[in-house]
Amino acid sequence: MVKVYPYYIGGEFRKSKEEIDKLNPANEELFAKIFETKIEDLDFCLNKAREAQEVWKKISFKERAKVLRQIHSILLDNLSTLAELETKEIGKTLKESLFVDIPLGADCFNYYASFLESLNEELIENEFGISLIKYKPFGVVAVYLPYNVPLMIFGFSCASALAAGNSLIIKPSEFGSLSLLELAKDIDRLDIPKGLINIITGKGDAIGRFLAQSDVDVISFTGSRETLKKIFSQAIDTPKKIICELGGCNLCVVFSDANKQLALENILGSSFIKSGQMCIGTSLVLIEEDIYEDFIKDLIEKTKKIKIADPFDPQTGIGPLPTKEHLENIHKRVKDLQAKGAKILCGGEPISKKGYFYPPTILEIKEAIYEEFFAPVVLLKSFKKMEIEKIIKENPTGLVLQIWTEDIYKAKELADISDYGTIWINTFAQMGSQIPFGGNKLSGWGRNLGRFGFFEYIQPKHIGIGFKKSPVEGWFGV
Ligand code: NAD
Repeated sequence: MVKVYPYYIGGEFRKSKEEIDKLNPANEELFAKIFETKIEDLDFCLNKAREAQEVWKKISFKERAKVLRQIHSILLDNLSTLAELETKEIGKTLKESLFVDIPLGADCFNYYASFLESLNEELIENEFGISLIKYKPFGVVAVYLPYNVPLMIFGFSCASALAAGNSLIIKPSEFGSLSLLELAKDIDRLDIPKGLINIITGKGDAIGRFLAQSDVDVISFTGSRETLKKIFSQAIDTPKKIICELGGCNLCVVFSDANKQLALENILGSSFIKSGQMCIGTSLVLIEEDIYEDFIKDLIEKTKKIKIADPFDPQTGIGPLPTKEHLENIHKRVKDLQAKGAKILCGGEPISKKGYFYPPTILEIKEAIYEEFFAPVVLLKSFKKMEIEKIIKENPTGLVLQIWTEDIYKAKELADISDYGTIWINTFAQMGSQIPFGGNKLSGWGRNLGRFGFFEYIQPKHIGIGFKKSPVEGWFGV
C-alpha cells in the first residue's frame, strides 16, 4: 500500500498537486509519497510561525522544558515505527536507526530540558549599577536537515532552537522526510502554539530555495557545502544569521605504534557504517609507511566480509544507497579517481541486483586528495612521519580528525596544532548531547549540542540600570 505524508504547517496537514514518489531503495518499489509545498502555503506557514513564537518566547524556561520532555517522549514512544521508516526510506540498517540515530536525537530534547531547568539569565553589578543580560530568541528559524539522519539532526538543531524560544520551519531533505512527517502527528497533539513547529517538504531547489529567500530570522543549515553556497546567494536580499554544519574530508591517521585491532575495527566503522553516509565518516586513512602493507591487507580482508543486503536484516552491515542517482554519482566519482591513478583495492562496481547497492570500496592513492564521499568509499595513503603535520594542515575542511597511536603525548601534540572541530584519539564517534559538535574551516562554523548549541540561537540583550554614577556624568564639566 502506498502511504501519503502531507506536510505540516500552522497546525494543519496539507497536500499539493505535486507529488514526490518514494521508492524503497532495497527493492525499488513505490511505498510512499510526499508533496512539494505550495509557495502560498509558505506565506501562511511563516505567519503562523511568527504568531506562535510571540507566545512561546514569553513562556518560562521551566514550562519550555516540559514541552521538550514531551517531544523526547513521543520520539521514544514511537521509536520502532520511526526507525523502520528511516530505514525503509534511506536504506541505512535498522540497527543504526533504532539504536543510534533516533535515540541520540531524542536525548537532545532531554538534555536541553535539563539545561533550561537550571538556566538563569545573568545579572552583573559594577560601579555604575546593574546589568541584566536577557537571553532573547531570534524569532523564526528555518532548519534544513540532511537526508542521512533526519531525526538525529532534528534533535541536534531543533531542541536548542526551541529551548531558546524560537519557532521552527523545518525543511527535511526530499530523500529523508518520512520519519519527521510521521512524528508530526504526535507533535500536533502537544499543547503548544500551532505553528511553533512546521515541516515543509519538497525539493531543495524549489521550496528549499523559497525558504532561504523568505524573511525568517535565522537559517540553521546542515548539509553540503555546495548547497550552502546556493543558500547564501538565495538569502542575499534578506540577510540573516546562518548557522552551518557541513561535512568534510575527515582524516584518520594510523601511526605504526597504534593498537592495530582497535584501529582496524574503528576504521571499518567510521568508513562504512550507514554506507559511509555520516558527516563524521572517514574519507582518507593515512597509515605510517612501515605498517602500511600489513595493515591494508587486514583492512581489505575485513571489508570484503561485510554483508551487503536488506537493511532490515540484523546481520546486514551495508544497505542500499537512497536513490539510483546517489548510486550512479558515487560510481562515477570512483571511476574518475581511478582514471586519475587511484588503484581500486576492493569494491568499485555496483552490485547487480534490484536495489541501489554499492559495495564497500577502498582506493589507494599516492598524493592526498581532500574529498568527502558520503558513500561506502574510502581512500588509503601511506605517510612518512615527517609529512603528517603538513597533510593534516593542508586539508581545507575541518570536521573530524582521528589519531591512532599508543603514544598519547604525540597524539595530544598533533591534536593541539590541528584545526578540526572534533579530534578523536584512539576512539571514534565519542559524542553526546552535552558535547559541542561542529566543523572548522570549510566544514562550517556553527556548533550543535551542549551549552554552545543553545547560545547559537539567542541574542543576548543588555538592560543596564543606573544605580550609581553614569560613565559620562560630568564628562564636559559644564
Ligand atoms: P544537501 O546539501 O544536498 O541538502 C541539505 C538540505 O538542503 C536538504 O534539506 C535539501 O533539500 C536542501 N537543499 C538542497 N538544495 C537546495 C537549494 N538549492 N536551496 C535550498 N535548499 C536546498 O545535503 P545532503 O546530501 O542531504 O546531506 C549530506 C551532507 O550533509 C554531507 O555533506 C554531510 O557531511 C552533511 N552533514 C553534516 C552534518 C553535521 O552535523 N555537520 C550532519 C549530517 C550531514
